[in-house]
Amino acid sequence: MKKALIIVSALCMTLLCACGSSGKSSKLVMATNAAFPPYESVEGGKIVGIDAEIAQLIADDLGKELVIEDMAFDSIIAAVQSGKADIAMAGMTVTEDRKQNINFSTPYTEAAQVIVVKEGSTVASPDDLEGMTIGVQIGTTGDIYAEDIAGATIERYSKYFEAIQALLQDKIDAVIVDREPGKVFVSQNEELKMIDEEFTVEEYAIGVAKENTQLLDDINASLKKLQDSGKIDEIINKYIKAE
Ligand code: GLN
Repeated sequence: MKKALIIVSALCMTLLCACGSSGKSSKLVMATNAAFPPYESVEGGKIVGIDAEIAQLIADDLGKELVIEDMAFDSIIAAVQSGKADIAMAGMTVTEDRKQNINFSTPYTEAAQVIVVKEGSTVASPDDLEGMTIGVQIGTTGDIYAEDIAGATIERYSKYFEAIQALLQDKIDAVIVDREPGKVFVSQNEELKMIDEEFTVEEYAIGVAKENTQLLDDINASLKKLQDSGKIDEIINKYIKAE
C-alpha cells in the first residue's frame, strides 16, 4: 500500500513538473485583507496567520512561489475574477451569492459571525440588535446579516478596526464580526465583550476564478493531503487555543 502511494506521488510530481514547464505561471498570487487576525495580519512587515500558512503549504505542494497581495476585503473577488490574483484567501465565507462570481475550494475550516459590544451593554443575543446601530466591515457576511435585522441602522467601515474604534467611542451599539477576529479584538480591549450566542455558522474556503478549473482541482487535491496529514489542524491549533 505504502509503495503504491509513493509511486502515485512520484507520478504526480512528474506531472506537476511537466505543468510547470509548459509555460504556466510559477507564482500563486493570493488576494487577502491582512487585518483579520488570526487568519491574516501584518507582523514585522510580514503577512502571517492561518491563511498565510495554509497558502504557503499549498504553494509548496504545487511547486509555486506564494505572493500575497493585501487589499480591501471588498476588492478581493474582483481581483480574482480579473486575474490580478489567482486565489482569494481571506477568511472568506462560502455564500451562494459569491458562488455566482467565483468557485470555492472544499472548505478548510468552520467559522461563525458573532456580536461584540461594550461591557455593560444590554445586548445579550442577536434578537436584541433590533433597532440598534450596528457596525460592520463593508462587503462581509456580517454586513449581509445586519441587513436582515429589523429597524437596524448599519454603519459600514472599510476595516473592522474602524468599527471597533467607533464602538469604543459609543458611536455604534455593536459590531458583527467573525468569531476568531472578534476574540482577538476583545482580548485587546477590556471595555469589550463578545456575546456567547453565535449569529450564524459558516465555512471558509479558497476562491478561484470560474475558468481556472485546473487550479481549483489542484488546490482541492493539496487541501485533501494537508487535511489528511493533520497539517491544517496543526496550523489552526497553533493560532486558536482551545478553551
Ligand atoms: N468571513 C467574512 C466574509 O467572508 C469576513 C471575512 C473578512 O473580513 N476577511 O465576509
